[in-house]
Amino acid sequence: MSAQQTIHVDGEWRNALDGSTREILDPAEARPFTVVAEGGAADADAAIAAARRAFDEGPWPTTPVAERAALLRRVADLLVRDREALGLLESRDAGKTVEEGRVDVDCVADAFRYFADLVVAEGPGRIVDAGSDTVHSTVVHEPVGVCAMITPWNYPLLQASWKIAPALAAGNTFVVKPSEITPLTTVELIRLLEEAGLPAGVANIVTGPGHTVGARFAEHPDVDLISFTGGLVSGTKVAEAAARTVKKVALELGGKNPNVVFADACATDEAFDTAVDQALNAAFIHSGQVCSAGGRLIVEEPVRERFVAELARRAGQIRLGRGTGEGVECGPLVSRQQLEKTEAYVASALAEGAVLRSGGKRPAPSELRPAEGYFYEPTVLDRCHRGMRVVREEVFGPVLTVETFTTEAEALELANDTEYGLAGAVWTSDTAKARRMARRMRHGTVWINDFHPYLPQAEWGGFGKSGVGRELGPSGLAEYRETKHIYQNLDPRPVRWFAG
Ligand code: NAD
Repeated sequence: MSAQQTIHVDGEWRNALDGSTREILDPAEARPFTVVAEGGAADADAAIAAARRAFDEGPWPTTPVAERAALLRRVADLLVRDREALGLLESRDAGKTVEEGRVDVDCVADAFRYFADLVVAEGPGRIVDAGSDTVHSTVVHEPVGVCAMITPWNYPLLQASWKIAPALAAGNTFVVKPSEITPLTTVELIRLLEEAGLPAGVANIVTGPGHTVGARFAEHPDVDLISFTGGLVSGTKVAEAAARTVKKVALELGGKNPNVVFADACATDEAFDTAVDQALNAAFIHSGQVCSAGGRLIVEEPVRERFVAELARRAGQIRLGRGTGEGVECGPLVSRQQLEKTEAYVASALAEGAVLRSGGKRPAPSELRPAEGYFYEPTVLDRCHRGMRVVREEVFGPVLTVETFTTEAEALELANDTEYGLAGAVWTSDTAKARRMARRMRHGTVWINDFHPYLPQAEWGGFGKSGVGRELGPSGLAEYRETKHIYQNLDPRPVRWFAG
C-alpha cells in the first residue's frame, strides 16, 4: 500500500520529511487498510512556522468576522455533503458504528454553525464607561495567534472540530495533530477547510506520534496556545512543557463519571425501563470509550438487585460486531492495547471481590466479529466499592461497576469521590432532590434524568483532574481570544506627577 500524503503545511499536502509512514488498522479485523505519513519534530517545526507566517503576515486574523463566519458555514455545508463518507471513515478508523460516525458528523457541522453565529453575535467588543467625556475606552477581542491542537482517538473528528471551529472563528491560525491511530477524518476536515477557501498556512496538520510531534507542539516557543484532549498522563506532560514558554493551555482530560440512581426513579415499570436503558447507554456506547462514559453506577440499595439483573440481561444482548455491520450496536475497542487494558481492569476487579454479572471476556468470533478484532463483551461488575482500582481509574472500555447507597448524603459523597470531575447524572422523580444533587456534584456537566447529551451552546469541560478550561459555549470561543483594553485620551494634558 502506498502512503497517503497526510501532512499539510502552508497549503501543500506532503509526506513526512524523513519519509516515515504508519499503517492504520481497522480495529474490527486488526488489519491495515491504509497508510499515512508519520511526521516527526521537523514536520511539526515546519507546520508551526507556516502557521506563524500566516498569522503574522496573512489575511486571516484581520478578515472581517462576517467573512470568517461565512467560511465556517460553508464548512458545515461541506460536512453535510460528505456525511456518509465521513461517517464511514470514522467507523472504519475508530471502530464505532457507522450511525455513531454519522451522528458525529452532524454534531461537528452544528459546532461550525454555532461558532459562526456566536462570533457574529458577540461583535467586536464593548465600550467601557470611563466616567469622562474625554476618554474613549473599548475592550476588544483579538485572536491569540498560533494555536496547537492535540486530539485523542475516540471522537477524532468531533474533538478536532471543537477546537478548530472556535479557533478559526476568532481569527487564529493552527497546527493540529490527531491521534496517530485515528488520523483520517481530521485529514479530511483539513481538505474541506481548503475547499471552503481558507487561505494557505492557516490550517496545518501533522500526522504522527505524541512523544515527538505532540511534545514539539507543547514546547515550541512560536505556539501561543495549546489545546489538548486526551489522557491525564499525556495532558500533564503537555502542561509541564507548555509552562516553560508560558503559553495558554487548555486541557480536556479523562473522567470517572457517576450515574446516581435513586429508587424513586424506578417507581413505575416505564420509569425503571428508562433508567436501565439509559444506564446501558451511559456505560456502553462506543464500547465505553467515551470520556464522559457513565461507567460507575451508584444505585440506591432497595432497587439494586432488580436494576442490576435487568442491566446485566440487556448488556448480554448488545450486538457486537464491526462498525459497518448490519444491526451492529457496538463496535470493537480501538486497539489491542485498549483491549488488554480492559481485560486487566476486569481481572483486578474480580481479584478485589467484584461479582461478574455479565460479559467479562472476549466474545466468540462470528461473521460480524472476526477473531482478530479487538472485541470485548459489555461487562457488569456488581458489589464494587471505591477502594477498587476499577472504580477509581478510567477504564475506557465496556465495563460498568455497581456501588450502592442508602442516603442522599452517601450518594453525593460517592459521586464526588473521584479525582476527576467531568460529568455525572442523577436519576430521581424528586425535583428538589435532583437540583440539590446537581448543584453539589463536583462535575463539569450534570445530567438530571438523562445521560450523555451535550449542546454546542453549553460549556463542556471538567472539574479537578478532568481538565483546565472549557470547550463549546461562549467560553469555548473565549479560549481562543485575547482581550485587549484600548484607552484613548481625546484631550491629552500633562499629569504633573513629577514637579520638575
Ligand atoms: P492519550 O493521552 O494517549 O493521547 C491523546 C493525544 O495526545 C494523542 O494525539 C497522542 O498522540 C498525544 N500525546 C501522547 N503523549 C503526548 C505527549 N507526551 N505530548 C504531546 N502529545 C502527546 O489519550 P488517548 O488514549 O488518545 O485518548 C483517551 C483519553 O482521552 C481518555 O483519557 C479520555 O477520557 C480522554 N478524552 C477526554 C475528552 C474530554 O472532552 N474531556 C474527550 C475525549 C477523550
